[in-house]
Amino acid sequence: MQKIILKAGRDKSLLRRHPWIFSGGVLAERSSANTTSPSSTIATGETVEVCAANGEVLGYGSYSPQSQIRVRMLSFDPAVVPDAEYVKRLVAKSVARREKRSATRLVNAENDGLPGVIADFYSGWIVCQFTSALAEYWKDAIADALFAVPGCRGVAERADVDARRREGLTMGGFAVLRGDEPPELIEIDENGLKFLVDVRSGHKTGFYLDQRDARAVVRSLASSRDVLNCFCYTGGFGIAAALGGAKSVTQVDVSEPALAIAKRNAAINEADRQTQIEHIAADVFKFLRTCRDEGRTFDLIVLDPPKFAESRSQVMKAARGYKDINLLAMKLLRAGGILATFSCSGAIDEELFLKILSEAAADAKRDFQIIGRTGHPSDHPVSLSFPEGRYLKGVIVRL
Ligand code: SAH
Repeated sequence: MQKIILKAGRDKSLLRRHPWIFSGGVLAERSSANTTSPSSTIATGETVEVCAANGEVLGYGSYSPQSQIRVRMLSFDPAVVPDAEYVKRLVAKSVARREKRSATRLVNAENDGLPGVIADFYSGWIVCQFTSALAEYWKDAIADALFAVPGCRGVAERADVDARRREGLTMGGFAVLRGDEPPELIEIDENGLKFLVDVRSGHKTGFYLDQRDARAVVRSLASSRDVLNCFCYTGGFGIAAALGGAKSVTQVDVSEPALAIAKRNAAINEADRQTQIEHIAADVFKFLRTCRDEGRTFDLIVLDPPKFAESRSQVMKAARGYKDINLLAMKLLRAGGILATFSCSGAIDEELFLKILSEAAADAKRDFQIIGRTGHPSDHPVSLSFPEGRYLKGVIVRL
């Protein structure tokens, strides 16, 4: 087996069980058979033995020649060398930790000990994203383990995720790995609401499962309110609000295909029974300004934008974006109105997000109270040793 030797002192994060080894922390890459000759022949995803500068074996990981993250750890136990059976067991354990639901995340990457592996379950169909060399290398074992999940009808992959490009993996589309082709739209149940999921061309694996708890909170706050759901995607928050007794719901998104599904989702939930529902294809930044100019107001506004900061370097620009939409939304609220606002940018932590919100409130010259917070639901667990896994923040404020 090939060996990765870390520079002195660069074993610290590993000893805290953080799973990433950056290229800058690597002193040498060698073949164990002949520790004196440097080797450049480690294959993408191949298992390597990771050693401290003093030669102590720290564990085993998967090699990634193109990424800044040179190795991702799979085993922190010098006595346990990962093989296909080991990877299958990790997947099975991850699945066993989940509550049974019609739609749930079964594997949450690093946080479940499987760096770069995402697996989402939608009414029997499992859709994966393999975003690391490790994930790609062990794909067959992972697909086998997922296909063995009770009730699984098929396992598919979405290979169109940008992270693959950064990792030097080939880009692709939607492909069935095991079992049957899923239908064009899969119907799931979330807290009694029905949603249609397009696993082939929807965002991520098809649905924002990570906002399940937040949608339930919005539902509980929506009664008799005029609701504006910005960045609505396939309608989640708005339909939850309608079923929570909202007077009206305005769903806004720039994506026509997402809105088309949002309309169908509204229909299958009979969301218009007591609620007036409107779907608007628009840029939220512009739409909020139009509302301001027209004097249009709301009692509950949801802001769930896409990730504004892809990396640390984009934090300042992203902060301006978050402040802009939150300031505009704060000004559109009626007395007693509620803003449910979210950020899924990992590079913006909760403290910074709260600071942005307080600056927006100050500029809006309005007083807000925090009445709730949301975060990762239990099927999106966050490993304590992996701060990078904390990306989702939700803050509910009341005027
Ligand atoms: N709240 C949704 C998920 C939102 S994901 C849910 O619960 O399912 C972010 C959405 O923002 C995507 O649907 C994307 O199409 C949309 N979007 C991105 N930029 C936008 C913009 N400038 N204006 C309007 N919508 C935008």
